[in-house]
Amino acid sequence: MSEIIDGKLIAQNLRADLKEEIKILKEKYNKVPGLAVVQIGNVAASSVYVKAKTKSAQEVGIEVIDHHLENTTSQEELINLINKLNNQENVNGILVQLPLPNHMNEQIILDTIHPDKDADGFHPLNVGKLSISSSNDENLLIPCTPYGCLLMLKGLNIDLKGKNAVVIGRSNIVGKPMAQLLLKESCTVTIAHSKTKNLPQLCSSADILVAAIGKPEIVKGEWIKDTAIVIDVGINRIEIKNNGESKTKLVGDVKFSEAKLKASAITPVPGGVGPMTIACLLRNTTIAFKNSLI
Ligand code: NAD
Repeated sequence: MSEIIDGKLIAQNLRADLKEEIKILKEKYNKVPGLAVVQIGNVAASSVYVKAKTKSAQEVGIEVIDHHLENTTSQEELINLINKLNNQENVNGILVQLPLPNHMNEQIILDTIHPDKDADGFHPLNVGKLSISSSNDENLLIPCTPYGCLLMLKGLNIDLKGKNAVVIGRSNIVGKPMAQLLLKESCTVTIAHSKTKNLPQLCSSADILVAAIGKPEIVKGEWIKDTAIVIDVGINRIEIKNNGESKTKLVGDVKFSEAKLKASAITPVPGGVGPMTIACLLRNTTIAFKNSLI
C-alpha cells in the first residue's frame, strides 16, 4: 500500500513558514512583499484561481495589488500596465493569469514581465537560469507547479540521486522545468510526450513517475513499477453517473485506485500537487521581495 502524499498539509506548512518569514522581514524593513495579480476577462476557472491565490497571499501577509481588466483590453494596454507594474516599488511579483484572450500573444506578454518580478518563473531569463544554475540556488524564480512537485519528493526523505525519473509531458510550465529540477537532483531523466513510443514500457522503468498530460486516468496501475513514487499533476474534470444523476468529479492523469496498489508513495487529485502550486507562488513572491532588498 502506498503512502498518500498530503499536498494540502505540505503546502500548509510552507505557507506557515512564509508567514513567519514575512513577519520577520516586515519588522526589519517595515515593508511586505507585494504581488500584482492581473486577470483579463471573466473565464470562470481563472476567477477561481485568482480568488484562491489572492486569499492565500493575503493570509501569509503579502499585499495583493489587483488588476481585473475587460476582455476587450488591447495587448498594448496590457503591456503598458505590466510596464507600470515593473516600475512600481511596492510590487515584487507580477502574475498574469492565463489563458489570455485570443487577441493576445502569450509569450510577448510573459516576456514583458521584468524577470526580477516574474512570480510564475516563466520569463526566458529565469527559464535559462534554471537550466544552468547549481542545485541549491535559493534565489531562483522557478515555475510553481514543478517546484511544488520537487518539494513533495524531497519531503519523502529519500535519496533522489541516480533514480530513474520519467516525466510525461513537455510543456514549458510543467514538463520541461520538472525535468530540469529532477536533473539537478542527479536523477536520470526521460521526458515522454504525445509522440513517445511504448509509453507503458517506459513508465515501468521509472523510480519516479511524474504525469503532466491532461488526459484523465491515462496512466494505468500496470504501467507502474513496484515501489515507484508517482506524482500526478493532471487536473481533469470528468462526468460520472451517481444513482442515475450526472455529476462531475476531478481526477488526475493516473488511475489512482490501481496505482496506489503499486506505488510506494503517490499524490492524490485533488489534494496533491494543486495546493503546492499556490504555496510556491507565494514563495516566489517572497524570494523576489528578498532579492529586491539585496
Ligand atoms: P499541456 O497541454 O501544455 O501539455 C501536455 C503534455 O502532455 C504535452 O507535452 C503532450 O506532448 C503530452 N501528452 C499529451 N497526450 C499524451 C499522451 N497520450 N501520451 C504522452 N504524453 C502526452 O499541459 P500542461 O499545462 O503541462 O498541464 C498538464 C496537466 O497538468 C493538465 O491536466 C493541467 O490541468 C495540469 N496542471 C495542474 C497544475 C496544478 O497546479 N496541479 C498546474 C498546471 C497544470
